[in-house]
Amino acid sequence: MTLGRIHSIETFGSVDGPGVRFIIFLKGCNLRCKYCHNADTWNPESKDVRSATELLDKAERYKSYWGDEGGITVSGGEPLLQIDFLLELFKEAKSRGINTCIDTAAEPFTREEPFFSKFKELMEYTDLLLVDIKHIDNEEHIKLTGKPNENIKDCLQYLSEIGKPIWIRHVLVPGITDNDEYLQKTREFLDTLTNVQRVDVLPYHSLGQFKWEELGMKYQLEGVEAPSAERIQNAKDILRAN
Ligand code: SF4
Repeated sequence: MTLGRIHSIETFGSVDGPGVRFIIFLKGCNLRCKYCHNADTWNPESKDVRSATELLDKAERYKSYWGDEGGITVSGGEPLLQIDFLLELFKEAKSRGINTCIDTAAEPFTREEPFFSKFKELMEYTDLLLVDIKHIDNEEHIKLTGKPNENIKDCLQYLSEIGKPIWIRHVLVPGITDNDEYLQKTREFLDTLTNVQRVDVLPYHSLGQFKWEELGMKYQLEGVEAPSAERIQNAKDILRAN
C-alpha cells in the first residue's frame, strides 16, 4: 500500500472539474512558477499521510452533493509526482463508481519507463485531466517555471492520441503570457489536439504572495498587476476560451 502525502483537502470544490468535487491537494512540485499561489505545496514531505481507502471513505460522505457530474479531483502541488498513490486511489475510486479528475502541470510526464507504463494504466482510471499550459514558448517557460515545456506538450499530444478528455488552463500574466503572439501560438498548438473540451483563461492574481513571504522567499512578480478586463477578453477570444 502506498500512502499519499497530503497538503490539504477541500470538501466542496466547484472550479477544479465538473460539478461539485472533493479535492485532494498533494505535496511536492518540481516547477517554480513565479506566480505560484501554492508555494507551501512544493516541499514533498508531509505529516499528513493517508491511504486511498481512508480518503475515499471521507470523500464519499459528500457524495450526495456531487450530482451527476461531480466526484474527486487530485491537485497539488503536482499530483503526478505521486503516481503510485494516484493509481491506488483511482483504481479504488473507479471500483466505487466515483468520477476521477487530475489537475496537473504534467511536469513529471515522460515516455520513458517506469513512468510511462504507470501513466498509461492511470489513464484507464481517469475520466478527465485539467492541464496547465504555463507558457507555449520553451525559453519563456524555463524563465517562468524553471523547467522546459517539451515533455508537457508531449503529454498533451499523448492524451490527444488516446482521446482522453482534457480541459486546458492558462494563467494570463501581464508581461509574461499576456502577449498576442504567444496566445496565438498556444491556440495553434491546441488546434493540433483532438481532445480539448474546454479552455479556461485564469487571470493572474497575487493572492499567494503571503505564502512566499511566510516561507522566507522573495515574491518574484512584485508589482505585477492583474490583467485588465479587455486583455482577459482578448486572451479568451484568441484561445477561444470558455
Ligand atoms: S505547477 Fe502549480 S504548484 Fe507547481 S509551482 Fe507551478 S503553480 Fe505552483
